[in-house]
Amino acid sequence: MTSPRVPFFRPDIGPGEIDEVVATLRSGWLTTGPKTKLFEERFKDAVGAQHALAVNSCTAALHLAVDALGLKAGQAVLVPTMTFAATAEVVRYQGAYPILVDCDPATLNMDLSDAARKLERLRAGRIEGVPAGTPAVGIIPVHVGGFMMDVDAVRSLAERHRLWIIDDAAHALPAAWRRRAEDRWQRCGEGTAEISCFSFYANKTITTGEGGMAVTNVRQLADRMRVMALHGLSTDAWERYSGKGSWDYRIVAPGYKYNLTDVAASLGVHQLGRAEQMRAAREAVARHYVHALADLEEIEVPCESPDRIHSWHLFPIRLRLDRLAIDRDQFIRDLATAGIGTSVHWRPLHLHPYYSDGLHWRPQDCPVATEVWQRLISLPICSAMREDEVAAVIATVRELCARNRRPAWSSAETPEAALTVP
Ligand SMILES: *Cc1c(COP(=O)(O)O)cnc(C)c1O
Repeated sequence: MTSPRVPFFRPDIGPGEIDEVVATLRSGWLTTGPKTKLFEERFKDAVGAQHALAVNSCTAALHLAVDALGLKAGQAVLVPTMTFAATAEVVRYQGAYPILVDCDPATLNMDLSDAARKLERLRAGRIEGVPAGTPAVGIIPVHVGGFMMDVDAVRSLAERHRLWIIDDAAHALPAAWRRRAEDRWQRCGEGTAEISCFSFYANKTITTGEGGMAVTNVRQLADRMRVMALHGLSTDAWERYSGKGSWDYRIVAPGYKYNLTDVAASLGVHQLGRAEQMRAAREAVARHYVHALADLEEIEVPCESPDRIHSWHLFPIRLRLDRLAIDRDQFIRDLATAGIGTSVHWRPLHLHPYYSDGLHWRPQDCPVATEVWQRLISLPICSAMREDEVAAVIATVRELCARNRRPAWSSAETPEAALTVP
């Protein structure tokens, strides 16, 4: 029997999505309109927010969010180094400085004690490339893989330093956290930040192909984002999309073109309706992985908590390089040879040329991320995964660990030394 080839991700599009897209195509209304409005209504109810704005990417939502909160050139924002390009680039769009913060080695989420240290350094004028006296005005936590940060801890740091909070919630639908077992669950987007931004990119937890959503409980922020998402036209210009609007719109700011189409929103309403069922399917995959891999000395599996509802967007394992005779890149190549697709989330931002050469960030500025990213591999996890595929991933990972196991006596060596062993 041959093992199946397992792609890193496969979209989960049901007949409801397909029928709705076809109905929209036949309706004669393709761009922003009734389906987008319906998607926004359902989305804000799903996460427990008062306002929702559908846009064409999470990056657009993040950009609108920093604009609405008034981020200006010459200000600074705390951003985790362990994230995708989008989280920090929107800060640069405004001419502001992303202050890169190290990660917690277990959750990969932003390390808030390092955030406090970076604020100290900023105040002391000791962040290279950032002028002394640059004020920090905000923080953009990322809930990596859908394991939420401690929202209270983020809020208390933000209050202490008078920072606004934007959730990069690209992975966090549906996800929730609670302080302790007696407390009620708080969903990501349910007042967890001033603005929470979600992604519907093709491989995210729900998808519209490309798409995003910004949610907030503050009317003024919602209004500003709505204006800026459509060329800075006064809000009633959105009425044009319902056919009720007037030809005589007013431009009130130099905005952007970030609106979502009804074709995409048609996917969104059905994906949203299945979000919890798809989360449960991913959780079942994660359960299998943890059960079958947790005993391996050569790898570490992602952390869990009874106080988190984990979206399980990602399943990042960490190799123990001191226990293995091969490095991460070889492990990935060997998985690929066996037909298993993987990815790495992520090469941290401070190790990309734009941030290192351009903005002077050095490996030692975020030592945990610098070390841990060399050990990261994201295994396939999606709601459309079959049991034989999960079994194939487990068997291959176990086989690679067994084949490349290093004798216990050498485990005292440093990881650097271990890497040089053929
Ligand atoms: C995917 C992703 C984004 C960007 O989402 P888009 O919808 O592609 O713009 C932002 N942040 C994180 C953490 C992501 O993984």
